[in-house]
Amino acid sequence: MNNELSPSQALQRLAALCAKGEHCSGEMREKMRRWGLTEEEREKILDRLVSQKYVDDERFARSFVHDKIRYNKWGRRKIEQALWAKHIDRQTAQAVLDGVDDREYLEILRPLLAGKYPAIKQRPTTSVPRSSSALPSDAASPSNSSAGASTKPDSTALPATLTLPQTMPPTISLWSRMFDLLAPRACQVCGRRLAMTEECLCTACNLALPRTGYHQSARDNELARIFWGRIPVEKCSSFFFYHPHSDVGRLIYLLKYFDHPEVGEDLGRLVAQEYQPSGFFDGIGGLLPVPLTRGRVVRRGYNQSVEIARGISSVTHIPILSGAVRRTRFAASQTHKTPWERNENVAGVFRLVRPSLIVGRHILLVDDIITTGATLVSLGSEVLKAEGVKVSILSLGFSKK
Ligand SMILES: [Zn+2]
Repeated sequence: MNNELSPSQALQRLAALCAKGEHCSGEMREKMRRWGLTEEEREKILDRLVSQKYVDDERFARSFVHDKIRYNKWGRRKIEQALWAKHIDRQTAQAVLDGVDDREYLEILRPLLAGKYPAIKQRPTTSVPRSSSALPSDAASPSNSSAGASTKPDSTALPATLTLPQTMPPTISLWSRMFDLLAPRACQVCGRRLAMTEECLCTACNLALPRTGYHQSARDNELARIFWGRIPVEKCSSFFFYHPHSDVGRLIYLLKYFDHPEVGEDLGRLVAQEYQPSGFFDGIGGLLPVPLTRGRVVRRGYNQSVEIARGISSVTHIPILSGAVRRTRFAASQTHKTPWERNENVAGVFRLVRPSLIVGRHILLVDDIITTGATLVSLGSEVLKAEGVKVSILSLGFSKK
């Protein structure tokens, strides 16, 4: 918005850009929008670029697909999603992808599978027992230091950034000391008394929760893939894997049904502290917690996703833009429905009421648990109606099927 260009300057600059490499019309539109050109000017310039063959979406798609297969070793679905995110229309993308020789895909796939095979074989033994069965013994162990030490050897999968001293508040005020003395806080998982520097969870329970680590590959992971072909998503992660009767399940239940909004804020702060060093929040211009209906907020007293967003915002200083979208009605309880019914149940329940709040921003949708993704697909497609918006997703739990 700050560096405004005249239409002729813009045309010159874009033509020079296209002379150097392939660009698609979506990218051109986005640049012109940022330069402050009106929609009419943008379309006029784009027409000229297209008629003079500077921009050709099919040619772009062909070279894009070729490069991603050859050099980035991407599979077909990932390329499809990337083309969609670039606003290449479906027909063009399909035609180009269909034109790729099957042997070419296979050639790429073979070494990739060979490389992944040992990792797939090992997975059950390394990650499964760590999550909840490791916990009771830790929790039962009386001394703090030995519990900490015993979790260390098998915590190799944890992010390197999870060093607890970093997450401590710099000073502990007299007030918090007094408060802790009068009303000692307990770990929400094992019930042990919390140290002054611990928030909501003791160190042992915190380290034992099954993290997804998806922020390390936020554009392509198991969660991101459930949105492919549904809405274009930039980055995608869940803090933990969620199972109904696990410790993560207990935390989420406390947050959603047992009047513990502070659990949301504390976990929001934790995820933000862990994810920030990886650049997960870079470029994000607003947090949008999944809205509830007014009635639901009044009954519960709070919106759990807003509480999570509050924790994230306190660390990252990214603003919360709750007012942009409203939930028009609340679908009936989803727990007894098949994924397909759930999908239908939330379609159209959100309405973009203040697009000006989010225009041109990269918005992070914040949710408590993701199961089928239907709620976020519905919310995301509404948010994407605002001009120049990109969407990313972050939740506390991911309930993998
Ligand atoms: Zn604990």
